[in-house]
Amino acid sequence: MKQALALSLLAGTLAAQTATTKPLPPTVEAAENTVSADSIRGFDQFLADDLLEGRYPGQRGGELAAKFIATQFASYGLRPGGDNGTYFQQVDFTSVKSDPAKTTFTLVPKSGAPMPLRFAEDFVVFNSKLEPEAAIDAPIVWVGYGVTAPEYKWDDYKGVDVKGKVILCIVNDPPSDDPKFFGGKGMTYYGRWTYKFEHAAEMGAVGALIIHRTDLASYGWDVVRNSNTSEKTFLTQDKDPKLSAASWIQLDIAKKLFESAGTTLDAEFSAAAKPGFQARELPVSLKATVVSSVRHFQSPNVIGIYPGVLRTAQDQAVVYSAHYDHLGVKADAKPGEDAIFNGAADNGTGTAMLLEIARAVTSSKVLPPHSMVFAAVTAEEQGLLGSLYLAQHPPVPL
Ligand SMILES: [Zn+2]
Repeated sequence: MKQALALSLLAGTLAAQTATTKPLPPTVEAAENTVSADSIRGFDQFLADDLLEGRYPGQRGGELAAKFIATQFASYGLRPGGDNGTYFQQVDFTSVKSDPAKTTFTLVPKSGAPMPLRFAEDFVVFNSKLEPEAAIDAPIVWVGYGVTAPEYKWDDYKGVDVKGKVILCIVNDPPSDDPKFFGGKGMTYYGRWTYKFEHAAEMGAVGALIIHRTDLASYGWDVVRNSNTSEKTFLTQDKDPKLSAASWIQLDIAKKLFESAGTTLDAEFSAAAKPGFQARELPVSLKATVVSSVRHFQSPNVIGIYPGVLRTAQDQAVVYSAHYDHLGVKADAKPGEDAIFNGAADNGTGTAMLLEIARAVTSSKVLPPHSMVFAAVTAEEQGLLGSLYLAQHPPVPL
């Protein structure tokens, strides 16, 4: 997204050059004409060099990228916008990774045999409370799509208490062809897995089981598995409610779960799609142990400010942003395999354009009316975490 923004900024200036309506001030046009493809290419080549080892936050390559960007900002005369008069806004992160050998999930029906599940094959889980170990033995509450949306008069949690329990829900929005109702064919935020987990935690649940169905999620189990068996990273200061077991289960497992509760997946899915769906506690519990390795690290957002001249706009700024981090080095690379995720396109290009915009603007003799904030943000690949921190700690009042 940041990259698209930078691209559209460049596209915008190109369009402005050819537009006949209002010519740019000559000084601005002169600065704009200094924007150089070679310069952008040069920045990107450095950022995506093997030497930077895929720019993983908190590791050497990521730190090198941050230092490089700060050095460029300094050379353009930007004012430091980070901590204690530096260009660096340090962000504290905590990562968790579930231990596949020690993490166990068993579905325990009131009648019938317990069903142990296989890690990565049947379920995946992460502990967003960042606890090294969590034990769960709690009833499962079926909440359909797991959505509370007053604007659509929809509440899947109505009439049930999920405090200390585990919710079970479907990914995506309740089905709709009406664009005014859950975005019609499109998906609203209520349909995303992040919302399901956030809302379950807000409602007091200790765990959540999202039923994976490829057509509803629009991606396969392999995507769910890969992104949930690797390390998950959070802002350390994040105070939002979290889950000890944020998990996904395969569709087949959900089928067996409903059968052990004396119902069927098809019946429950169609009931969940209708207004008036009633959530209920199932006669099945989840008994789980979630063991995680937890680690802490820091990585900076890099912020430079070009002060504006309008006195009335001293507390206003236009923010130009791109994420500079990438995926680092592949952990399980085979001998001889190219293990470095160079990230030239994602997002070396966006960062290079950000730098070039800053360079071109500061080479102009005209000062901008509003301040310009240049923010190269970190930990985008972990879920836009650097951006989130920047929005929570803006260098100018929001
Ligand atoms: Zn990216």
